[in-house]
Amino acid sequence: MEYKNVLTVCPYCGCGCNFYLQVLDGELVGVLPCKSHVVSQGKLCIKGWNASDFVVSKERLTKPLMKKNGKFIEISWDEALDVVAKKLKQYSPDFVATLSSAKCTNEENYLMMKFARAVLKTNSVDHCARLCHASTVVGLVKTFGSGAMTNSIGELEDANCIFVIGSNTTEQHPLIARYIMRAKEKGAKLIVADPRLIPLTQFANYHLRHRPGTDVALINGLMNIILSEGLEDKEFIKGRTEGFGELKKVVEKYTPEYVEKITSVPKELLIKAARMYAEAKSSSVVYSMGITQHTTGVDNVVSCANLAMLTGNVGKPSTGVNPLRGQVNVQGACDLGALPNVYSGYQSVADENIRAKFEKAWKTKLPQNLGLTVVEMINEAAKGNLKAMYIMGENPMLSDPDINHVKKGLKNLGFLVVQDIFLTETAQLADVVLPGASYAEKDGTFTATDRRVQKIRKAIDPVGESKPDWQIICELAQKMGSHGFEYSSPAEIMEEIASVTPIYGGMVYERLEDIGLQWPCPSKEHPGTPYLHKGKFSRGKGKFFGIEFKEAAELPDDEYPFILTTGRTIFHFHTGTMTRKSEALNREVPTGYVEINFKDAKELDIIDGEMISVQSRRGKIEIKARITERVPQKVIFIPFHFAENAANVLTNPALDPVAKIPEYKVCAAKVEKIEKV
Ligand code: SF4
Repeated sequence: MEYKNVLTVCPYCGCGCNFYLQVLDGELVGVLPCKSHVVSQGKLCIKGWNASDFVVSKERLTKPLMKKNGKFIEISWDEALDVVAKKLKQYSPDFVATLSSAKCTNEENYLMMKFARAVLKTNSVDHCARLCHASTVVGLVKTFGSGAMTNSIGELEDANCIFVIGSNTTEQHPLIARYIMRAKEKGAKLIVADPRLIPLTQFANYHLRHRPGTDVALINGLMNIILSEGLEDKEFIKGRTEGFGELKKVVEKYTPEYVEKITSVPKELLIKAARMYAEAKSSSVVYSMGITQHTTGVDNVVSCANLAMLTGNVGKPSTGVNPLRGQVNVQGACDLGALPNVYSGYQSVADENIRAKFEKAWKTKLPQNLGLTVVEMINEAAKGNLKAMYIMGENPMLSDPDINHVKKGLKNLGFLVVQDIFLTETAQLADVVLPGASYAEKDGTFTATDRRVQKIRKAIDPVGESKPDWQIICELAQKMGSHGFEYSSPAEIMEEIASVTPIYGGMVYERLEDIGLQWPCPSKEHPGTPYLHKGKFSRGKGKFFGIEFKEAAELPDDEYPFILTTGRTIFHFHTGTMTRKSEALNREVPTGYVEINFKDAKELDIIDGEMISVQSRRGKIEIKARITERVPQKVIFIPFHFAENAANVLTNPALDPVAKIPEYKVCAAKVEKIEKV
């Protein structure tokens, strides 16, 4: 018998926990935590403990598939790649688009964006960051010059005050919540702003239970109090920022009384929370999709940045603005340019010099026009303006808003190729399906939410005939007659990444063996950067913006009297593609549910566990009622993992005008009892 432990990174959330995959005679048999890891320190959440289940699922794709007469048949790799190459070549650049993946490695994301730009000649490459943290990238670049978590996860432990807004940290980033709890034990103050009662609220000094979608007003209110009580950091504002006058002018009218009216948070609570945040020696803002997934997503992010700068809480340990990234490599997929407007390292496609640099490195002419974002791709497909898509490791049939519309768009394509490890809801609509290898079956790197680039290591051979995604992209590019895809390993791809991407300039595999490196890491000698903006912001001075509050795109009315908000549970992950293959996780939460306040349930004569109907202007689902105090009256919450009662049938595809992120967190809905016949 041969047994080995292979150190790797958990494939789920952006915490970047490390564990060992246990391999017995070439078979994956389990997971063991890694005590020496800088973040996880021998702990894992329940998803991490069960992260080997889906790898060995009988449902894994093992051969390429092609649809004939409405049914999939197995075909050889050669045939599959021939068909895909021939079909993709048929369409001119304006008619093709690709989706890259936050579940794939940095090297694979780099290759997918290179494939889109250098082979298909389109900048229409995007991925699910559009649906979760596009507002972060835009908002923090505007204010600070860098669109990522400013500080490191471990630093949270030494913060004196932590302000968590729009992040159910305990359930979505459990190992980060551990640092928040440690800070509490050391005496830190905790303020939580969330419409729901989440696990963290029971430990909070103050819970600001604001109406969904009123974050800008809430933060303006906090800043109004800070300014009227003279608690701002005058020296920091003078020396390190610009635009303060504009902010001050806007914030003036957001008095505690006015903000109470908008948000429903009592003014006394607002005053206490503002003082607590401003008076602490080091205060850290932690946020997630409760902030970003709004038509005002960028405004919300900029407001968080305003608050931190106003009190001088940037550029120092245990402070900052800390967006928690949802998927294991969503940070990396952004860093590596799987976005329609930037190459790797956020280098602008519109900048002629940058484009010339990539043309020289890749030895080809590159497109100039900015590409389409995720939701725009679907809209254009539905209108017949987009004809072909190559989707790697994404499942828009569950993850995108207004699924009925997504289905229409994807079905309207002339050709759809999906590369994945399972026959997802999206893959079922494909013409060709290419079987990818899972994280346990390949080498590469993932970048955690705090910009830490870490190695993943191959523990077992890919199942069946599946192949690592980087290899598939290279073979396809070669089939299409393109050069520059002749890599022998992910390490070689990383060498190219380092050569064209300044923030990854010092990333070479030998340096990533131990605890990885945090970008920016511009040279082979650079030690990496635990916290950003020390002494100087990436953009020079930090910039304040005065932001006026705007209501969500769709508000409740007589016909649709509830606010629907969506999110995750600790037991499942995104579209459930991986976690729903785990017996243990399925046992905990086998299907979807809607949280409804007990008073609303009483009024509607709904009992706990009963199947009810939830409807919005876009669709209707039937789902089990969970009667609870977690949601306030007239607010309902649905986790979005479950295809059988998909929350995104209901959600509003209205977009933030700049980041183009949809408003998953607020839409109008009605709840009805299902009458028995
Ligand atoms: Fe994996 Fe995130 Fe859980 Fe850590 S906290 S074990 S990275 S899912």
